[in-house]
Amino acid sequence: MTCTESAYAKLNLALDILGRRPDGYHDMRMVMQSIDLADRVTISSQAEPGVSVNTDLPYLPRGEGNIAAKAAARFFEETGLPFPGLAIDIQKQIPVCAGMAGGSSDGAAVLRVLRRACAPEMALERLEEIGALVGSDVPYCVRGGTVLAEGRGERLSELPPLPPCWLVVCKPSCSVSTPELFAQVRVKKLRCHPDVTGMTAALEQGDLEGIARRLYNVFEDVLPRRYIQVFEMKSALLEHGAMAASMTGSGPAVFGIFRDEEPAAQAAEALQAQCASVFFCRPAQPQL
Ligand code: ATP
Repeated sequence: MTCTESAYAKLNLALDILGRRPDGYHDMRMVMQSIDLADRVTISSQAEPGVSVNTDLPYLPRGEGNIAAKAAARFFEETGLPFPGLAIDIQKQIPVCAGMAGGSSDGAAVLRVLRRACAPEMALERLEEIGALVGSDVPYCVRGGTVLAEGRGERLSELPPLPPCWLVVCKPSCSVSTPELFAQVRVKKLRCHPDVTGMTAALEQGDLEGIARRLYNVFEDVLPRRYIQVFEMKSALLEHGAMAASMTGSGPAVFGIFRDEEPAAQAAEALQAQCASVFFCRPAQPQL
């Protein structure tokens, strides 16, 4: 068996934190969107038992530490199917530690391939449950598209697709620590929360303007000022004509929404002078 699967990056159109739970996790309310910036994940059977992982980024874990390997191990543990030897090759396009769920998406791509190959009768919800055992963003990445994710990120409700648009993503060179950012959040002290209900209604109406107006990520409220590049790139996106701009996840990647291709392409080109990693993207939907 050899199968290649696209593992799409995610953006947060909205990210809200509702509270801290007794288990230490936070209750989240997020509108997630897949984009066509994707890693290529190729899975082949191999004679040796266990999973080996090869990636084109030498600093990523190659063995069991890779989220893709964890997902494969969980799949066979949970289904009870015999674990064949697997070789996973990952060609990374999604920037690492950017708030774009690159690792989770690789894990989700492995789960989709294994379901297709070994358990085609398995309900999508069951596959997402297995994903939740691998990581909080994995269930969403299994399904992808435009989704409301609640709880730790495992309670998913499909939303109408984002209307046709263009997305310019800039990944500043700084790296933000996700645990540090969560530690900064005092839910009662957050100054604003995204209007997720309004965004859902705007998605239902296909109202791109209404969606753009409601882009918001509460992490921006607590992001230390030393991550100045995040704020600079957000302003630069707006100066270059984005309808709205926001940080995704715990950053540092930021993105802007554009209605039309030409201004988006021009913005992406111009922003390369300010930021080493700029991506010109469209919304995407994984094949289940
Ligand atoms: P999120 O948006 O879900 O918070 P992120 O985009 O901030 O995720 P990732 O790129 O998914 O972060 O990587 C987070 C960590 O996971 C890194 O420290 C990396 O070493 C590890 N990792 C393990 N497997 C992978 C993989 N397949 N791709 C990327 N990172 C991986």
